[in-house]
Amino acid sequence: KIKTVLLDEKAIGRAVRRIAHEIIERNKGLENTILVGIHTRGVPLAKRLAVELEAIEGLSVPVFDLDISAYRDDGKRRIEKVGSGQPAFDGDGKTIVLVDDVLFTGRTVRSALNAIMESGRPQFIELAVLIDRGHRELPIRADYVGKSVPTSRRETVAVRLSETDAVNQVVLCEE
Ligand code: 5GP
Ligand code: MG
Repeated sequence: KIKTVLLDEKAIGRAVRRIAHEIIERNKGLENTILVGIHTRGVPLAKRLAVELEAIEGLSVPVFDLDISAYRDDGKRRIEKVGSGQPAFDGDGKTIVLVDDVLFTGRTVRSALNAIMESGRPQFIELAVLIDRGHRELPIRADYVGKSVPTSRRETVAVRLSETDAVNQVVLCEE
């Protein structure tokens, strides 16, 4: 099942720190920036990014949680907007950095963009992911990538974070 360790705890830490530096570099300051973690593991990653951003810039960047399951357009769930799908933040005029653990087809991100657009008109939306495993089905790419991992369709990436899974490790798995 487990084929390779892609990132160990130290490598995850380095990737998050590097992305924090890249966010600062690209946005020339963070006064107008908010982080939006995509449920589930995008949220602890967004919080880790906020810790690094604060350590580097001395500025606390707000972190929000976006559960886009209500917006997914695949399978049985067909864009029914209900309860928790509504963003709990005002993105109007902001630079929003969307954060997720794995980028695959791009459909989750597309749904997240939909949800965010309904909450106002952000000035910029950027995307940070820990792993890009390829297989995009939409014209979506990440601005910040921890590691690009070309995968086969049969492979999956297990992302384990201490906040949700007790360990910090990213491994490549095969069915
Ligand atoms: P997409 O919508 O781009 O097809 O898939 C991305 C979403 O599904 C992300 O929220 C991510 O958490 C999850 N996902 C897709 N593939 C994988 C994978 O191989 N490993 C993990 N951990 N999550 C995945
Ligand atoms: Mg997810």
